[in-house]
Amino acid sequence: MKIKISTISNKCFLQKGFNDKGCYGCKCDDSCCKHGADFDQESFNLIIQNKDIIEKIIEKKINDCFEETFSKDSEYLENNSIRSVKGENGFCVFHNKQGKGCVLYQLVQLGEISNRRIIPSICRLFPLTWNNGELKVYDEQENCIIPNDCNCIEQENTTKKNILETQEPEIGDIFDIE
Ligand code: SF4
Ligand code: SF4
Repeated sequence: MKIKISTISNKCFLQKGFNDKGCYGCKCDDSCCKHGADFDQESFNLIIQNKDIIEKIIEKKINDCFEETFSKDSEYLENNSIRSVKGENGFCVFHNKQGKGCVLYQLVQLGEISNRRIIPSICRLFPLTWNNGELKVYDEQENCIIPNDCNCIEQENTTKKNILETQEPEIGDIFDIE
């Protein structure tokens, strides 16, 4: 199952993509993780399936990692979403306490969890986002700003590719574009 997209905003074609450094090589302070993330229902289900391994790393019970209610927003994988909470350090509870990055990304990269959909779609796509069938850039939404140290806007990133190109594998896995 994928999320249906019928429109792509012009800004998506103009927004610079990531270079080879990506998130881990970027000097940013991961401020895109300083909120909870809206987890697709599918991502949440995978978290529950893999909770033993995740709980050991984050040192927290999965039951304490999410808000109490689902959004009922059908524009997520498996037609619903639930928001993660922030930890004591001000980052999403799944952020790596030892430094940069996300525990879920790391488990996928290490091959300890095979299904990449355990990472919320919204995190896999940032700074792309979507709403009402439109794929857009995060800062096209009211009061939403891309962190100014993000790899996708830093000057030393000289990639010629736009964000649709550099995020193509994620877009292909998450969206059904009409
Ligand atoms: S799930 Fe991972 S990538 Fe997404 S906000 Fe939380 S720590 Fe960041
Ligand atoms: S998306 Fe941008 S701000 Fe967020 S971790 Fe990656 S490079 Fe940093």
